[in-house]
Amino acid sequence: MPERVFNFSAGPAVMPLPVLEEAQRDLVALPGVGSSVMELSHRGKPYMAIHADAKARLVSLLNIPDTHDVLFLQGGSRLQFSMIPINLLKGTDKTADYIVTGSWGKKALEEAVKEGKTNVAWDGKSTNFNCLPKQGDLKLSSDAAYVHITSNETIQGVQFAAEPEVGNVPLVSDQSSDFMSRPVDVSKYGIIYACAQKNAGPAGVTVVIIRKDLMEQASSDLPGYLVYRNHAEADSMWNTPPTFGIYLLGLVCKWLQDDMGGLEKVQKQNEAKAQLLYDVIDQSNGFYIGHAVPEDRSKMNVTFKLGDDELDKRFLAEANAEGLTQLGGHRSVGGVRASIYNAMPVEGVEKLRDFMLKFKK
Ligand code: PMP
Repeated sequence: MPERVFNFSAGPAVMPLPVLEEAQRDLVALPGVGSSVMELSHRGKPYMAIHADAKARLVSLLNIPDTHDVLFLQGGSRLQFSMIPINLLKGTDKTADYIVTGSWGKKALEEAVKEGKTNVAWDGKSTNFNCLPKQGDLKLSSDAAYVHITSNETIQGVQFAAEPEVGNVPLVSDQSSDFMSRPVDVSKYGIIYACAQKNAGPAGVTVVIIRKDLMEQASSDLPGYLVYRNHAEADSMWNTPPTFGIYLLGLVCKWLQDDMGGLEKVQKQNEAKAQLLYDVIDQSNGFYIGHAVPEDRSKMNVTFKLGDDELDKRFLAEANAEGLTQLGGHRSVGGVRASIYNAMPVEGVEKLRDFMLKFKK
């Protein structure tokens, strides 16, 4: 087998090696079934068991209360940017509040504007999205349909340490890039959504955790796929689900439970990994310039620049030659971005830290 590099891609991102190995072993024929998971009817017993197992593991890992449903959808998080206002805002005279902390929050807002009234409760544009709002900075509407946040901004590398206070208004959180990276109190949320391709599996499946009462109001005249209720009533089989992706998501959950010991341990490891890199940045006398202010730094996407574009390029090329790959910042911001999701081993981060120290010298 070709050697694996340390892959710092922001997504699709590194997968846990034991998951890839199990999928490889069982790819052609699942034990006791004799067919690939890709060849199974989604209505048949073997796939239904895989589907139920993936869902049960998610419920257990995130301690999801039975006030909430778990849906496996397609269309990525970007379809959720539209489905959320279509289901919760469209046809009401309420306002949806958006806390815009980076590129993804901005894109979520752009879609919501098409569906109903919106209010920008905070916008980090003036400081180039390098920090998050304090509670007192938020201009929340009195009777909002929901408040939308992006818990981790993948491009800028800022992450909420705790959710903002929004009273009785449903809190909607895009957790695409920090899903299952730490425990969350699901009962505080109306909706949590995440495309899988960072922390949960391959691209093609999107997880939506939604409070059941929020599914009631959407009009049945909407295109069927866009109505959460249809997916919930059909246990995410309203249409053919992305079966292979859900299978892999289930394996990732099993790895988080059995190998990693659950989300509290995962969180500790993620914090320690991030600290290794932030320490180098902070002790570099300005050689490495971190983007986010220290208190709002992401544990998932460590973003920084060197003195100029040429030095950034040299850093990326030399890192790549040492097997530290896909470290380029998002095309809209440049610089360096080390995405260190759950599946990035500590050794990968240590190797990057050592490279950063050597490169500075
Ligand atoms: N939100 C966040 C925070 C993301 O990082 C991404 C993908 N990078 C998206 C939304 C969009 O996800 P998708 O491409 O699956 O629609």
